Amino acid sequence: MTDPNRADHYWLPFTPNRDFRRDPRNFARAEGIHYWSEEGARIIDACSGLFCVPLGHGRREIADAVHAQLLELDFAGAFMRGHEKAYAVARRIAELTPDGIEHVFFASSGSEAVDTSIKIALAYHHARGEGHRTMLVSRDLAYHGVNMGGVSLSGIRGNRSAFGPSASSVVHMRHTGIPENRYAIGRPEHGGGLADDLERFCGIYGGENIAAVFVEPVAGSTGCLAPPRGYLERLRELCTEYGILLVFDEVITGLGRMGHPFAAQAFGVTPDIMTMAKALTNGMQPMSAVAVSGDVYDSIVERADGPLVEFFHGYTYSGHPAACAAAATALDLLREEKSFDRSAALMKPLSDGIASMNDVAHVVGARACGLFGAVDLEPVAGEPGREGYEVQKRLFDAGLHLKATGDSLLIAPAFVCETGDVEDMFGILREVLGG
Ligand code: PLP
Repeated sequence: MTDPNRADHYWLPFTPNRDFRRDPRNFARAEGIHYWSEEGARIIDACSGLFCVPLGHGRREIADAVHAQLLELDFAGAFMRGHEKAYAVARRIAELTPDGIEHVFFASSGSEAVDTSIKIALAYHHARGEGHRTMLVSRDLAYHGVNMGGVSLSGIRGNRSAFGPSASSVVHMRHTGIPENRYAIGRPEHGGGLADDLERFCGIYGGENIAAVFVEPVAGSTGCLAPPRGYLERLRELCTEYGILLVFDEVITGLGRMGHPFAAQAFGVTPDIMTMAKALTNGMQPMSAVAVSGDVYDSIVERADGPLVEFFHGYTYSGHPAACAAAATALDLLREEKSFDRSAALMKPLSDGIASMNDVAHVVGARACGLFGAVDLEPVAGEPGREGYEVQKRLFDAGLHLKATGDSLLIAPAFVCETGDVEDMFGILREVLGG
């Protein structure tokens, strides 16, 4: 019999730990698009893990590459040392990013990629003699990870409220999750003008004092908020006009979720800096990356004053050989399996499933953009997040894993799904919600 106290020393992230210990849900194994619980129940994975397993679970090719790498070169600290796999992954990412985004810095999580991007943006302006540009612009409802830079950018109350004042000076534009967009499929028609908040900030604070604007092209952790038509284009225009760097946080949207290598290509807007993480190793090693334009790299590195270190930043595990081996193989598989096309082909079944939720009782919003959708549940009065939390437990028990964020249920199937798998996900969802 399982020790009833075995979890006592484990502190789970983003989890009501007291309730979890009373009523835990544990995974035992995973394969393809399924998990199995410790009780042996098969659970369909409607969220690619946490958006990071687009090629399906248990990919032997990646496991073998990591195993072989650890036996050949297990660790290679990246400070003043390189290795072939890191060069190869950086080169491959640069092939996938939009033209002009050419140099890649490695970290181990999305949060680290965001904080790295903040520092790159500040270092860029400093190197160009504009060190007074220290303000950052973010958005209400933004999620940029949990390190202190990302928390400063955060537009989510729960992620900030216990942690004191911002690490950086940040102002927040309004979000685009306006009532007219609650049921939007694809890019909403309404709200493009909200990008003009940036122009207002340039007026109030002086555009010359703003270092960077951070946006998730599709805000993920607050319920699939797609960019209204014209919105990202306008941000790009204003950033260029005022000399502000545009940063796309593509931790979720990067590497195929929008049917293109990046959301930048899906929406036809090129930022100066872009993060990526989730799909990079198919979730089989922790790894993230920040890709930057030639201008950003050259300003910090090529035109540096002295001959020594140009950018005082990096992590012990930046470019870890095992992570690079996983990424190199995952990127090969994404290409060989035409994964971005498969992602695009699944968008219709996904958006049909999302649209079928519109008339389900207690559903108060249902959106999709790319291979990503969200269903908003009517909140319990006075207890935001309660309904989402309880429903994700019932879904797990009914054989469906997804991420609940507040009262939104997030659906992000793996690219290896078949149409029928996506239909099954919505079948369980409707059944559990009583629709
Ligand atoms: N940025 C975005 C847009 C994210 O969605 C996330 C995580 O979901 C992060 C950053 C943080 O990534 P991580 O949890 O790997 O630190």
